[in-house]
Amino acid sequence: MLKKSSFKDKKVLVFDLDGTIVKLNVNWKELKQILSERYSNIYNTSCQFNSISGCLSYVVSKDDKKELENFFDIIREFEVKNIDNNTPIEESIYFIKYKNEFGIDDGAKLAILSLNTRKTVIESLKKEKILDKFDFIVGREDVRRWKPEPEGLVIIKNHYGIKSDEMLYIGDMRKDMLTGDNAGVDTYLIDDLIQYVKDHKKN
Ligand SMILES: [Mg+2]
Repeated sequence: MLKKSSFKDKKVLVFDLDGTIVKLNVNWKELKQILSERYSNIYNTSCQFNSISGCLSYVVSKDDKKELENFFDIIREFEVKNIDNNTPIEESIYFIKYKNEFGIDDGAKLAILSLNTRKTVIESLKKEKILDKFDFIVGREDVRRWKPEPEGLVIIKNHYGIKSDEMLYIGDMRKDMLTGDNAGVDTYLIDDLIQYVKDHKKN
């Protein structure tokens, strides 16, 4: 459960994007299919991926930097095309806009760790008029070992030169919780934040 004391001594609050700040309107199944077909054509092996990260990990394992960029381009274009149909998660946006109402330390920074491309993150935050609230963004292209691997949180930790226990991560999936566990960072589900904001607004 999130409470005021959960934020004590936290210097950086990290948010996931999709399902946490907004809900993207992306047909992930179709995107996975497109990537899978491209992979099969290029590397001459049929391959069904469990996840887009799984697919990219295969490309990374081929050490094919050019093709990895092509995959990022395809994902970016596919994610961004429906960005006007994003659904904002009002409680998250309220929290981000008015974080000083919630016992957050003055000077605490907000960051993003998302599996979505940087452009998707930036355009989504812009649309909700909260891009300026964020100090640092780690997107799909910025890591090579994706959630639930801890790499993204470690990049953020090193960027600020802080300790794991000075960070907090909020996401919507089990893999977000695992990412936090793997990085030694306190992690909460979006439902906890929504409840915290609702309780705050009641009082
Ligand atoms: Mg998410």
